[in-house]
Amino acid sequence: AKAGGRACVRHYLPSMRTAALHHLALEQGLRQALASGEQLMLYFQPQVDRQARVIGAEALLRWQHPSLGMVSPAEFIPVAEETGLILELGDWVLREACEALRCLPASRLPRLSVNISPHQFARRDFVERVAARVEAAGIDPARLLLEITEGVLIDDLYAAIETLNGLKRIGVALAIDDFGVGYSSLSYLKRLPLDELKIDRSFIQELEDANDAAIVQTIIAIARHLALAVVAEGVETHEQQAFLEANGCHAFQGFLFHRPMPYAALASSLKAVTGA
Ligand code: C2E
Ligand code: CA
Ligand code: CA
Ligand code: CA
Repeated sequence: AKAGGRACVRHYLPSMRTAALHHLALEQGLRQALASGEQLMLYFQPQVDRQARVIGAEALLRWQHPSLGMVSPAEFIPVAEETGLILELGDWVLREACEALRCLPASRLPRLSVNISPHQFARRDFVERVAARVEAAGIDPARLLLEITEGVLIDDLYAAIETLNGLKRIGVALAIDDFGVGYSSLSYLKRLPLDELKIDRSFIQELEDANDAAIVQTIIAIARHLALAVVAEGVETHEQQAFLEANGCHAFQGFLFHRPMPYAALASSLKAVTGA
């Protein structure tokens, strides 16, 4: 690229989007979005089994900013984490997710996964908040699957285990998200009351690489050893699916099957599948 004036640099460097000014705009925008309640939306990405039957879905936050357009959660979740806005945002997501589960019976959508941020998880009353949301919606807690990352376990493992046990007591399901990306240690993994491991997209995308293939095989073996379900994220090709199946992973989430979609599209695609 040629070294032009500032306007040129602004235009061509995506890293400009993370500049302090942008950060502030995102923070203010997020506050407005939370206050108005009109720019935030949950999308849903179905997860499927070997026969491409829907076995669940992941709730993914979307933010339609009035001037920036669709802002990626990869961009605004870190800002929300830093500013503490994630607590309110996370509450909103939990409420919307429970509402979706209330509207879609288990026969159509067995379960819904929700991403929980470290800050949200560390909240003293997190378990009570989840319990209150589940109860208000009147849903079976086992249909709500909370995805946490390995990061929540690092700061204070004992506090994290206590929270996980509390969540198990109220009956929700628990998954480790992006498994293999963080600092998992097998010795603590077996002490956690988990239900599922999710293999991060980054490993699936590089399956031609022998190292990544070995990591994926190892993750699947760990899941089997610990009697956990294992879901592969970011499955885009039949080759990837075939590799996963051959190695014992039978649950898939990825563009090969479904892209994240708004609630209405989810509801009608579930109708189409089950004929309900
Ligand atoms: P994640 O939890 O790893 O979610 C999976 C991401 O992979 C989603 O990106 C999804 O759209 C994308 N994906 C799924 N299948 C494919 C595929 O086949 N190919 C490709 N290229 N991508 C695929 P998304 O929706 O942009 O979300 C990004 C991240 O933002 C999530 O990563 C999660 O960490 C975070 N996030 C999203 N919603 C929430 C939320 O409600 N709360 C919190 N705390 N974090 C959220
Ligand atoms: Ca996730
Ligand atoms: Ca994640
Ligand atoms: Ca991931």
